[in-house]
Amino acid sequence: MDDLQIAKAARLLPPTEVAGAMGLDPALLEPYGNDVAKVRLDAIEALADRPKAKYVIVSAITPTPLGEGKTTTTVGLGMAMARTGRKAVIALRQPSMGPTFGIKGGAAGGGYSQVVPMEKLNLHLTGDFHAVTAAHNMLSAVLDNHLYQGNETEIEPHSITWRRVLDVNDRALRNIVTGLGTRVDGVPRETGFDITTASEVMAILALATSLTDLRERLGRIVVGYTGEGKPVTSEDIRGAGAMAAIMRDALAPNLMQTLENTPALVHAGPFGNIAHGNSSIVADLVGIRSGEYLITEAGFGADMGAERFFNIKCRASGLVPDAAVIVATVRALKAHSDKFKVVAGKPLPEAMLAENPDDVTAGGANLRKQIENMRLHGVSPVVAINAFPTDHPSEHAAIAAIAEEMGARWAVCTHFADGGAGATDLAEAVAEAAEEPSQFAFLYPDSASLKEKIETVATKVYGADGVDYTPAATKQLDSYEANGFGSLPVCIAKTHLSISSDPALKGAPTGWRLPVREVRASVGAGFVYPICGDMRTMPGLGATPAAHSIDLDEHGEVVGLF
Ligand code: ADP
Ligand code: MG
Repeated sequence: MDDLQIAKAARLLPPTEVAGAMGLDPALLEPYGNDVAKVRLDAIEALADRPKAKYVIVSAITPTPLGEGKTTTTVGLGMAMARTGRKAVIALRQPSMGPTFGIKGGAAGGGYSQVVPMEKLNLHLTGDFHAVTAAHNMLSAVLDNHLYQGNETEIEPHSITWRRVLDVNDRALRNIVTGLGTRVDGVPRETGFDITTASEVMAILALATSLTDLRERLGRIVVGYTGEGKPVTSEDIRGAGAMAAIMRDALAPNLMQTLENTPALVHAGPFGNIAHGNSSIVADLVGIRSGEYLITEAGFGADMGAERFFNIKCRASGLVPDAAVIVATVRALKAHSDKFKVVAGKPLPEAMLAENPDDVTAGGANLRKQIENMRLHGVSPVVAINAFPTDHPSEHAAIAAIAEEMGARWAVCTHFADGGAGATDLAEAVAEAAEEPSQFAFLYPDSASLKEKIETVATKVYGADGVDYTPAATKQLDSYEANGFGSLPVCIAKTHLSISSDPALKGAPTGWRLPVREVRASVGAGFVYPICGDMRTMPGLGATPAAHSIDLDEHGEVVGLF
């Protein structure tokens, strides 16, 4: 059976029953159809007296372009907690329809570790992404109208950083000219579209802790600068209130369930490179008091998703992680041996599938470094060896040997094939790790300068010798410090396919320097993002996108989603 067939065969519980297992009164739910409900924000206060769950972050070694199974493992671990008599809630990002119809497919997990209904999860769900798109573009319209009506703030049109967004991979919209036509059709200027997940509004949705906080963050968005370099905010041009009204319902997290009925909070989907790539804080504020374990996924490898989880998300939420799962696969470690090249959308090279534990061992440096990266933040690592049908036991043993050598707990898991029963060893290892007293610490204080923060992440987490800035980047950083943005954390935008900034470098490269080309700020979301390498914020569709094979069958059911 394919993923969609497995998902369709699932026996779902009504959302009220799923919420009941979390100790949530049905009155705290707002149903969206039969299988999905939003959890009202009042739940955070209603649960305030309940004990805190252990907070577990699921991350990975530096992945191949295929992904190594963080979502699948998050789902499997949640189900395995229930199988071992523990109450768990999982929290995931909502996938973007761009990649769903592009190359990556959906992101509801896979095999017997999925969140259901997967068509809803991968398509519109409760419309939060549409709300983000609408709120973002509302500000774009207010901004263009501000220019048209006389530009009272004296914003310099060429300095405008606020573009438009759409949740479709559409390369033709990357660069456009707006305001063409006659004088009444607006002020002509060059701009473009990004994908909705890259919107600062999406990052704000994920980092806001309440409606009040959401409103304030929306107001702090910087849309551009005056000729003297003074920031102009969405509040200044009076766009933030309308955005908040559009976003009100979207701030409530969505409750779904796994194939084995574990509660799953699915909420927000910020980009993993120019934003922090983690699901929402409000979902975690609900989940942290609705069970014994809250398990959440951080995008990309541990050098990126988990580092931002610790230094951006936990900083904003005040929550403290108790354990960190690092998903490792035979295929990714073999790829890190630098003998094989894995290409998105293509089958694995034949030679990579042969039994060869030495290739796995040869790729061990990346896993070692990612284990160290969790410890840098004082969090106990657990290595989840995500078993694929093409693996050999000797190759799993090679990964286990690296974990042992590093003194980290590990477990082989087969949740993709076996559901929660396949991850009970992982559940035991995570429970043990979470019992260790948390030594959690941020990597840098708020008071460090932006350059110190960038250098700390680059040298300690990425293993760089240092950082090189273009003159433009230095100028940008100086202006951010002068404008009072210097206390924000940094979100370094680099490739996710290497722990370095060069996607071709595998393992744990040394003897390199991080090149910062330019720097931008998401002041509303609350981070500064240095850009290292080419960052696409509007993907395109490939020669054979998933969109070509997604369809409705004769019964009106969706087919071709994966
Ligand atoms: P990530 O969240 O790290 O990107 P996913 O959990 O989405 O990774 O998995 C990436 C892809 O690999 C998905 O298509 C998923 O179905 C598949 N996959 C993950 N684990 C396994 C496994 N153990 N066996 C087979 N396929 C798997
Ligand atoms: Mg994922």
